[in-house]
Amino acid sequence: MPFCPICKIEYRDGFTKCSNCGYELMDSISYIDNRRDFDIPGNPGAKKLKHAKIGVWSFLVSLIPIVYFIVQTIQDIIRLLGPIESNSDNNMQIGIFFAALIIMLIASIVSLALGIVALLQKNSKKVFPILGIVISGTMLLGCLIFVCDVLFTAFELA
Ligand SMILES: [Zn+2]
Repeated sequence: MPFCPICKIEYRDGFTKCSNCGYELMDSISYIDNRRDFDIPGNPGAKKLKHAKIGVWSFLVSLIPIVYFIVQTIQDIIRLLGPIESNSDNNMQIGIFFAALIIMLIASIVSLALGIVALLQKNSKKVFPILGIVISGTMLLGCLIFVCDVLFTAFELA
């Protein structure tokens, strides 16, 4: 008999999905055999989806600095191709630059943390968290090297 392990409802033969929660039905005999797998409170199906989502978020957040770099590069090219403007707002440009740097650092740290959390969780796909960790780790390293370089130069000038 098809059986929903979440709702503990038995269905007539021919049903494949639980009409109550949408979870894939299993044979009631194999449910008894694998009962330990369903001892997790709540909905294991939803839990699996949540795990995968953390990994995807890790990947998406890690892309923020890359998207910023691409936008910045396009802006620089447009500026180079366009007429030369006087740099009257130099202080504002420096402010924007440091705000962007802080956002990139935060995005990389968040992505790294999400990636590690997703990686540690069972029953989740590892592709997205690994991508997120690799990208954000590289970004974080790049940012740290840059910050150290700026600080070093600042100390040298002082
Ligand atoms: Zn159900």
